[in-house]
Amino acid sequence: MDDPVLRRLLAGFRAFHARHCEREAESWERLVREGQRPEVLVIGCSDSRVDPALLLDARPGELFVVRNVAALVPPHAPDGAEHGTAAAIEFAVRVLGVRHVLVLGHGRCAGIAAAREGVPDGCGDYLAPWTRIVADAVAGLEDPAERERAGVRRSLENLRSYPWVREAEAAGRLAVHGWRFDLERGRLEGYDEAAGGFRPLAP
Ligand SMILES: [Zn+2]
Repeated sequence: MDDPVLRRLLAGFRAFHARHCEREAESWERLVREGQRPEVLVIGCSDSRVDPALLLDARPGELFVVRNVAALVPPHAPDGAEHGTAAAIEFAVRVLGVRHVLVLGHGRCAGIAAAREGVPDGCGDYLAPWTRIVADAVAGLEDPAERERAGVRRSLENLRSYPWVREAEAAGRLAVHGWRFDLERGRLEGYDEAAGGFRPLAP
């Protein structure tokens, strides 16, 4: 393997193997034997700086994760087309029975910026319609952080357009949360729906 990038990745996998398949083999074997039972679905951004498993120091099996541009939840639209994010949400909620759905937005999000300023040239096929999910929610907002918060709120609204999300929430089987990772300050804030604003969560 000559490519230094691939060499680094394989070294990373060796470290994973040494920890999870050897030192902590018992817990790994249980996951293999019993299957996954994550209690949390995370909808995060594809941005390479904001991996939910790293940010939340999660263990294998702990988080069911779907990542996409800008951590967006599209509205319920069962029209027979290919909806990757909705498929992951459906599986997590209806099959795995997760207890929490966490929308995890972040600072300096290029996807949210594109929703207001337009997508890069030549990215009209998929990026443009995708970022339109949040375009009207961010249109009047000057502050990038406020736009990112509006993106999280829009995703929470859209989550509740799925009837089985609403049902699970109403039955008390599911809670939905909107968090934003402030990249510059290294802090996490959460949406307080009762108060209608974001407040610091950690540190
Ligand atoms: Zn992003």
